[in-house]
Amino acid sequence: MAAINVKLMNKELENLPEEALRRAPVWNSFLAKNKKRIEKMDTTIHALHYKWSERIDCLSCGNCCRVLGPRLTDKDVERLAKVTRMKPAAFISQYLRVDEDGDVVFQSMPCPFLGDDNYCAVYESRPKACREYPHTDRKKFYQLYKLSVKNAETCPIVYRVLDELVTL
Ligand code: SF4
Ligand code: SF4
Repeated sequence: MAAINVKLMNKELENLPEEALRRAPVWNSFLAKNKKRIEKMDTTIHALHYKWSERIDCLSCGNCCRVLGPRLTDKDVERLAKVTRMKPAAFISQYLRVDEDGDVVFQSMPCPFLGDDNYCAVYESRPKACREYPHTDRKKFYQLYKLSVKNAETCPIVYRVLDELVTL
C-alpha cells in the first residue's frame, strides 16, 4: 500500500492538534462505553497499527522527533554515548537535562539527532521510548488508550488508529 502523499501529510500535520482535540470526545466516549471490549481488542488494534504504519511514511512526518521528547534510560544514555563516541558524562552535559518530573530528556527539541530529511542519525541506537512510539502495537493497549488520545495530537498514525477503532 502506498504511503500517504507528502503534501497531504503536511496539511494533515498542520491541522492534527486541532482535529485530534475535536475528535477526542468521540474517542473518550468509545472508551467509556467499551472498556471491557477494548481490553480484548489488542489483535484488532495491532492490525490497525500495521495498516496505518504502512500507509503513513514516518520520514514524511518526523513530528514525534520534533515535538515530543523521549524519556531516556541509563542504558539509552550508555548506548548513545558509545555511538557518538563520547564519554557518558560528556554526552549528558552536551545533550541531556532532568525535567520537572525528574525524567532524563534531551535539552531541547527538535531532537538533536533528527536530520533535515527526518532521518534519525542514531537510529540503530535510538532510545527505547523512540522504538516503542507510537505505542499502538503495545500489548494491553487499553492501558495506553488515554495517552494515545493525547498522542493523536502529534501522530497521524495514532489519529487514524483511534478514528477507525471507534467505528468497529
Ligand atoms: S533519537 Fe532519533 S528517533 Fe529518537 S527523537 Fe531523536 S531523531 Fe527521533
Ligand atoms: S510515529 Fe507518528 S509522529 Fe512519529 S514520525 Fe511516525 S507518523 Fe510521525
